[in-house]
Amino acid sequence: MGPPGAGKGTQASRVAHELGVPHVSTGEMFRDHAAAGTELGRKVQAIMAAGEYVPDELTVAMLEERLAEPDAEQGFILDGFPRTEGQVAALDTLIGEDGLDGVVVFEVDEDELVQRLLTRGRVDDTEDTIRYRFRVFRDQTAPLLAIYGRRGLLVSIDGIGDIDEVTERILSAIEAYDLRPGAIIEESEIPQ
Ligand code: AMP
Repeated sequence: MGPPGAGKGTQASRVAHELGVPHVSTGEMFRDHAAAGTELGRKVQAIMAAGEYVPDELTVAMLEERLAEPDAEQGFILDGFPRTEGQVAALDTLIGEDGLDGVVVFEVDEDELVQRLLTRGRVDDTEDTIRYRFRVFRDQTAPLLAIYGRRGLLVSIDGIGDIDEVTERILSAIEAYDLRPGAIIEESEIPQ
């Protein structure tokens, strides 16, 4: 989790590759739908271009379908989901309240983020939209950190720096927290 432009997509893709689990990005899935001109794509195109959140109902249905695919059985890296309290609740229902191993939070300076987004050149990266997406993140998504904080799942990462460096930080944090998918638990470690 982190504000727009924090590097979630890039890093999620690299970490997923490293761990051998699928990278599940709801934003990417929506962009694919929009590009392919599916019914869902037509519904979400204007919403995305405006920097708004797609309604939970559509987002959750799409995610549920994705997580049911066989490649997600051993784990997955979620990128850009959950973004609302409703999505947290839906995810709890889908994978259980203890279903997530950890939540990586990107700490990044806002000025640097604006610069990054302006050079990314995506269609939803106009200056107005960027500002609006920040506000939406602050209002709707930042509060979710408290929920995962209470569950002891937050892992904070310094998101500024070389792409490789940031990937290393995340992988080290995952190792330190033993968040590897299917990590083997020694018998002596099983709580009695
Ligand atoms: P992203 O690639 O994660 O920045 O997502 C791009 C856009 O897709 C967002 O600005 C939203 O319009 C939409 N989107 C992606 N994920 C979600 C989500 N979990 N809930 C609602 N809208 C989403």
